[in-house]
Amino acid sequence: MVGDSSRNLQQTINQLIELRKLGMQKSIAFSETEQANFTSSLNLFLDNQQKYQELSRTISDMIDRKQGLVREKEQAEQEIKRQGQPARDEFDTLSRKHRLKLAFLQLAVLLPILAVAAVVIIKKRSSIYFPLFLAFGAAALVKVALVVHEYFPSKYFKYILIGGLLIVVARLLIYFIRTIAFPKTQWLVKQYREAYERFLCPVCEYPIRTGPRRFLFWTRRTVNRIVVPGDGGVPEENYTCPSCGCNLFEECPSCNKIRHAMLPNCSHCGAEKEINA
Ligand SMILES: [Zn+2]
Ligand SMILES: [Zn+2]
Repeated sequence: MVGDSSRNLQQTINQLIELRKLGMQKSIAFSETEQANFTSSLNLFLDNQQKYQELSRTISDMIDRKQGLVREKEQAEQEIKRQGQPARDEFDTLSRKHRLKLAFLQLAVLLPILAVAAVVIIKKRSSIYFPLFLAFGAAALVKVALVVHEYFPSKYFKYILIGGLLIVVARLLIYFIRTIAFPKTQWLVKQYREAYERFLCPVCEYPIRTGPRRFLFWTRRTVNRIVVPGDGGVPEENYTCPSCGCNLFEECPSCNKIRHAMLPNCSHCGAEKEINA
């Protein structure tokens, strides 16, 4: 504003000076009023000029001050950054520790569940509920993989994954080798033996009710609790399961005594018999 009016005034004064020059050249005298106008304009111009210079000084002072403050601000920011570094480091360390703790806690819960699932899957291979156990195991495995992936940097994750796969592959290999080395008949004989021990039909689990056990009834759970009158439960006659029709006790072809029909050896003469799976 002051600058603008100062410039305007300067133009006016220049015009006046021009007029005056012209007047002097043509020897025309200025009137009283013109003279006064000229003087007051000149005074106003000088005043404005002074104000303008003062304001310019103030502006340059302000600019200096502003630059100083900007520098101060930058220094303060650098200082804040420098002093904040230990706090950030501390935070990172604590955060890492906390995440590790979380991961171990989650794995401490999940891994036993996974182990239980694996055991159930291996034990209950032939159960009709096998798909259920398999789904349970798969869900546990996926959850473990997700937790490991979330909390461990990818290189750890890779190693753990490779380790897990190695274990799974080894487990499968062991299973297949065992199936080849110990054929199913061996496993069957074990099942038959356990059933005979409980006086139950190896095929349908109906009690073998012969001799002193003729009027009793028991199951896999109650077999050890029942009181058997007299001694022994070994039948001395042929016996067929009334429920499924399997031959359980038969005459031995070599000693003609009664032997277990579904076990490999005769308990009297030891004659061997083929057990078919
Ligand atoms: Zn039976
Ligand atoms: Zn025999």
